[in-house]
This record gives sequence, structure tokens and C-alpha cells, in this order.
Amino acid sequence: MREKLKALAELQKVDLEVASLRKAADVHPRQLAELERELGAARSAIEAERNRVADIERQKTTLEQNITDEKDKVKKWEARLAEQRSTREYSALAREIDIAKKANQTMADELVELSKTLGAAREAVKAKETEFAARQEQLSSRMAELRGKQSQAEGQVKTLEGKRSEVSARVDPTLLRRYETVRKKKLPAMVGVVNGTCQGCNMNVPPQLYNNLRVSLGTDVCPSCNRIIYAIEALETPAEK
Ligand SMILES: [Zn+2]
Repeated sequence: MREKLKALAELQKVDLEVASLRKAADVHPRQLAELERELGAARSAIEAERNRVADIERQKTTLEQNITDEKDKVKKWEARLAEQRSTREYSALAREIDIAKKANQTMADELVELSKTLGAAREAVKAKETEFAARQEQLSSRMAELRGKQSQAEGQVKTLEGKRSEVSARVDPTLLRRYETVRKKKLPAMVGVVNGTCQGCNMNVPPQLYNNLRVSLGTDVCPSCNRIIYAIEALETPAEK
């Protein structure tokens, strides 16, 4: 009876190890996804800055074209000014020229400001790109580390699974079937009974059942939680031969 119990205890030890490994490895995909998100956000931030630069560049080109057009217009008007016969027409055109020149000056001032803004925006992109490159390097090495840990855990699980099939071959088939049924719902599926109390559900097992367990040093089923139970003494005391 005792050997059966021991074999099952060994199997459960492997199962608990696998479960804790899986639980620990569970965080890796989540952490990886988080890092991917962070990297993506940094990339979008740069993209936004680049778009801003492109936007300002377009504004600048438009403004420069407008200035050129206005200057051409003024030149033509100035040429026409000499041909004006009436004073009224002359002064009307002179006033138009004056207005156009002022508008041109305003646009030239705007262009200076826009150039400054563009310079600053380009600097901002450069700074963000440098920052991103550093962050990317950091994140990439962290990701590689996580992937390494993940594959290490997978390897450990695989090793344990090999050990598991080896160990389970030594477990009594009837007991193994019962264990597998319980294991799907509860792990640990097999628990000790200490001073009459099931360590799985903390309920007292009937005294007669507890006595039987202590005498047989075998297993039974907890009436409260259905786990496989054994008297803790069965695994604690040294084996008598
Ligand atoms: Zn129980």
C-alpha cells in the first residue's frame, strides 16, 4: 500500500512542479506584449513628429510660392504704373502696390517664423529618434531575455513531462485513474490528513476512515472534497521492512 502511495506522491510532485513552472512562465507572453506595445507607442510618437515636420514644410512651400507670385504681381504693376495717364488711375494703382507690398512683408515675416518652427520641429524629430533608438535597444534586449526564459521554461516542462510518464508507469493503474480525474479539477489531487483533518478542504474526515488510513498506510477519498487522501504518517515514518 505504502509503495503505491509513494509512487503517486512522486507523480504529484512532478505535476506540481510543472504547474508552478507554467504559472511562472505565464507572465512572459504578457510582458512581451507589453514591451511590444511600448515600442509601438514610441514609434507612433516619432511618426506624429515626422508628420508635423512634413506639414510645416508644405506650409512653407505654399507661403514661398505666394510670396513669389505677389512679388511678380508688384513688378508688373510697377511697370504699368509708368503708363498711367490719369492721376486717379495712377494713385489707385500706387495704393494697390502699396497694399501688396505690405502683404508681402507680412508673409515674409510669417516665413521667418515658420522657418524657425520648422527648425525646432526637425530638432524634435532628431531628439525623438535618438531617444527611440536607445529605448529600442533596451527593449529588444529585454525581449530577447524574456524569450530565452520562456524557451528555458518550455524545455524544463518537456523534461518534466518525460519524467512524468516514467513515474506514472510505476503508479497503480486504478489509483492513477482516480488521480487523473481529480487532477483535472484540483491540484494537489492527493493530500494528507493531519490529526483527522483533510489538508485539501480543511474538513474533518470521519474518525473510522482516519483510523483505517493510519492502519493501512494506503489511500482513500475525502468525503468532502473528493481528493485522494492518506494519513500523513504514511509518508513521514521511515519504511519498515
Ligand atoms: Zn477534503
